[in-house]
Amino acid sequence: MHRSSESTPPSNPQDVNLHLAGQLRQLRLGRGWSLDQAAQATGVSKAMLGQIERGESSPTVATLWKIATGFGCALTSFLGMPVAPMAQAVFRDAAQLRSKPATDDMLVATLFPYDPRFAFELMELTLQPGYVRQSEAHAAGVTEHVIVLRGKMDVWIDGAWQALVEGAAVRFSADQPHGYRNLHAEPAVCHDLIHYPSGMVR
Ligand code: MN
Repeated sequence: MHRSSESTPPSNPQDVNLHLAGQLRQLRLGRGWSLDQAAQATGVSKAMLGQIERGESSPTVATLWKIATGFGCALTSFLGMPVAPMAQAVFRDAAQLRSKPATDDMLVATLFPYDPRFAFELMELTLQPGYVRQSEAHAAGVTEHVIVLRGKMDVWIDGAWQALVEGAAVRFSADQPHGYRNLHAEPAVCHDLIHYPSGMVR
């Protein structure tokens, strides 16, 4: 059996940084934004954006999420993995993908990066004990599906924390503030499938 090597992300941190650098610069220039404008849109400082674009910084997942939200694009759309032909099976292994793009208190394994043909991205998220994140609202019409694979966690929806046990799943409108936390002693692992209205993400 042939496994697709085309969709394998860069394997070492240096390559990840350079890849991010190129993608961010391309996205920013594609919108005709100065670094100042990008800083305003994302809430990430101009200095930090400049460092990322020069490949000098390993941004945290939280920073990447701010950038993606500010640009109105999927988190994974600027991790930019090549698109495989439709007819070809794509095999992914979360164990090989965790800690990319960053080693953080939330590990992100991009199982299926955003692809306009399917209008969603699917990530495996690992929330370390004590992890709390309030997420910025995504663009109008964005929907998230969180499915807990291991451990227990809470999601912030409609102004309240909702407990999710192993095996639980929830779908919610992510175009309002929402969040994820793990107050338990063991890591929590979930799938997060984010659906984008068609044509929203370039
Ligand atoms: Mn979100």
